Amino acid sequence: MQKKIAIIGAGICGISTAYLLSMQGYDITVIAAKFSPDITSNRAAAFWFPYHVRNDQRGNNWCRTSYDFYLQHCSKATGISIIQLIKAVKPHSGDEDSWLSFMPEGTCRTLPVSEIPKGYALAYEASVPLIETQIFLPWLYEQLTAAGAVFIREEVNNLDVLTNTYDLVINSSGLGARSLCNDETTIPVRGQVVLLEPGFPSHIFLDNQTPAYIVPRKDATIVGGTYEENIYTEKTEQENLDDILARATSVFAGLENRKIIGSWAGLRPYRPAVRLEREPGKNIIHNYGHGGSGYTLAFGCAAEVSTLANEVLQ
Ligand SMILES: Cc1cc2nc3c(=O)[nH]c(=O)nc-3n(C[C@H](O)[C@H](O)[C@H](O)COP(=O)(O)OP(=O)(O)OC[C@H]3O[C@@H](n4cnc5c(N)ncnc54)[C@H](O)[C@@H]3O)c2cc1C
Repeated sequence: MQKKIAIIGAGICGISTAYLLSMQGYDITVIAAKFSPDITSNRAAAFWFPYHVRNDQRGNNWCRTSYDFYLQHCSKATGISIIQLIKAVKPHSGDEDSWLSFMPEGTCRTLPVSEIPKGYALAYEASVPLIETQIFLPWLYEQLTAAGAVFIREEVNNLDVLTNTYDLVINSSGLGARSLCNDETTIPVRGQVVLLEPGFPSHIFLDNQTPAYIVPRKDATIVGGTYEENIYTEKTEQENLDDILARATSVFAGLENRKIIGSWAGLRPYRPAVRLEREPGKNIIHNYGHGGSGYTLAFGCAAEVSTLANEVLQ
């Protein structure tokens, strides 16, 4: 008989795991309080870049596995493409370069002085996956539905109880883990972005220190951002949006003439380290706390969860 797995959470971390496990023939039920497009995973920019994980040795593998997955799944239908990213570093900014060791071979180069954007001391060009969440999340849901997965809209208050019904419970509740697991180390980090009419520029621009990032999606150019710890409201604030635009237009010429078409805010589920482990003695695996790198890590973490799941269920 097929083993039954419940996955708590319908964000990128839960759904990527559901996808990999459904490909292995497990009977999958996704239980979530909210689904796309009403979740943090729809508020991401969302491009592949090692962000919150640079001090975590496990992160390197997770990032690379995710990179490979996206590379193999580039298409119009998935909304995934490989795009040029220019990362620029201001003089004396203290920006560290540990992220370079996370880049797959041949995907990144230091730009010659003649190509460095004006006002910057250093710049890199990288090829990274851009994941258009508005296309990719529905695509994943469709794949799961076609594979026979069941979706239940429900708030879960107790993981142990679910182990009576399912052979394995996987907890990918993101920020929800703060109360579900009584884990106070998981905190929200709000990010606000402005949306401009699409069509410009043709590459991602990233300046972590200012901070400013510009991401060209098909439906909008996303201009970010903010990094606000312990803010629990998903609302945008006009003053912050004005700041975001002012910063972006000061470092990236040509943006100032683009029409504003919207804005949003999302809460990154930050934890000092991602929690990916089996709870001792229980058929529960935790996979949450991916902060500002959920897309960058998702399929690497999902692969590790799948390995753990196979061990638990064999
Ligand atoms: C502005 C912004 C920009 C970002 N840009 C990037 C980027 O460029 N690249 C990148 O890699 N990452 C980016 N991120 C981070 C990324 O969005 C997150 O890391 C990722 O979405 C987290 O996914 P998740 O599945 O863990 O959580 P979520 O998407 O929040 O999903 C959690 C799920 O768990 C469910 N849930 C929670 N509690 C319960 C409960 N008790 N019972 C039932 N269900 C529950 C929720 O309903 C939801 O379905 C960005 C984030 C923001 C806010």
